[in-house]
Amino acid sequence: MHKKVKVDMDPGIVCFQHCGPKVFCFSLPEHCPVCSADLADARFSLLPFRVPYPFVRASQYSCAVVIKPTTGDFLNDYYNSMDLHIGVTTSSGTIVEFDKNGLRRHHNDQWNQCLLLDQATPPWREHWDNTLMQICKQKHWSSRNYSEDRHNCYTFVLNFLKMLNYGNLSNAASNKTSFCEKFIIPRTTSAGKYISLYRKLKDTGCYVHKGGSNK
Ligand SMILES: [Zn+2]
Repeated sequence: MHKKVKVDMDPGIVCFQHCGPKVFCFSLPEHCPVCSADLADARFSLLPFRVPYPFVRASQYSCAVVIKPTTGDFLNDYYNSMDLHIGVTTSSGTIVEFDKNGLRRHHNDQWNQCLLLDQATPPWREHWDNTLMQICKQKHWSSRNYSEDRHNCYTFVLNFLKMLNYGNLSNAASNKTSFCEKFIIPRTTSAGKYISLYRKLKDTGCYVHKGGSNK
């Protein structure tokens, strides 16, 4: 339980530069890990700042397309885009997903650490909900019809997006490969940098990026 609470939240990675290389840590140390100088009244070449946390809580985003690892969470369990599960939210932030258990609508906390692929603007809310309701009524989104390769979470979301007819998002949805290239890969690539940083810090609490200095 403790672990779960922890991974849902921003671990608060801090970055600074004191005497050269970039240093990443969970909290600002008393002494510079590179030159051991006291940091209390040190002059930083780059002032400490919080590295932006790339993940969101799906229920806080309405009319959104979101992805998360099929099992576990991004920070600890994610390896590549093959392991991703995709879902959408309604205008009130209810998560709608299709998987081996069939179609589900809920608010559960398994979607507390996901990547936002896109979000419709407010004028689209009603059309978004109506289209989603229409597609949810189709009989073939049942656990019996689920197929890991041919009738899965992507089939559901891409069908919905095509029916929605929402600009670039819907255009890309006509083909899974182009959807991945335009909407998934850019997000997972930038989140991947944060994930690898987090994993380096998890063991040591501090990471010095050697060669990252341009001084
Ligand atoms: Zn230093």
